[in-house]
Amino acid sequence: MLDADFFRRWMAATAMSVDREADRLTALDSPIGDADHGINMKRGFAAVRTTLEKETPDTPGGVLTLAGKQLISTVGGASGPLYGTLLRRAGKALGDAGEVSEAQLADALHAGLDGVMTLGGAKPGDKTMVDALVPAVEALSAGFAAARTAAEEGAEATTPMLARKGRASYLGERSIGHQDPGATSSALLVAALTEAAE
Ligand code: ADP
Ligand code: MG
Ligand code: MG
Repeated sequence: MLDADFFRRWMAATAMSVDREADRLTALDSPIGDADHGINMKRGFAAVRTTLEKETPDTPGGVLTLAGKQLISTVGGASGPLYGTLLRRAGKALGDAGEVSEAQLADALHAGLDGVMTLGGAKPGDKTMVDALVPAVEALSAGFAAARTAAEEGAEATTPMLARKGRASYLGERSIGHQDPGATSSALLVAALTEAAE
């Protein structure tokens, strides 16, 4: 079972890897965006970490709901409301249980992902974070390591895609041949689950 501490470790591990990979995320956002994705993610998850240290919510749902709210209020770009919705919806789905199973986490992330797709209108194949998150959530039933691999492969698979949502879509054909920054940061979020579980 996964308790609030696990979810705090997940958010802290995400903050660390986003911080470490910020330059790479920003570099990916340079040819097909406005070169701020690393900055956005770094600012957002640093704020998540600070808030979680101060407010110490004591349920898994409370941790994710607070983290999602914080991302929405601190990240100006498209990614803030989208990641915020993912975590807030997932948090709501977990309710006020003190511990949740991996299957409950998978269901909650599924609900969060539905929220992302409703808000942003992106479907698989549109070259967005959805392309890493959909396979990751599907693979979660096989464990965190499987989800991590699925997310990383999903992010890599965005390279040949034509962007149909977000800033990259303004480039049309010229968006082809670049890995999507948001799919890449989504793979970091999913990979952080394996770190939180160690
Ligand atoms: P902005 O584009 O506002 O500068 P970021 O650079 O932080 O925001 O985030 C860009 C990422 O957000 C993209 O790489 C893509 O993965 C994701 N994204 C953008 N628009 C959408 C959308 N409508 N649905 C899903 N994901 C999206
Ligand atoms: Mg950007
Ligand atoms: Mg921007």
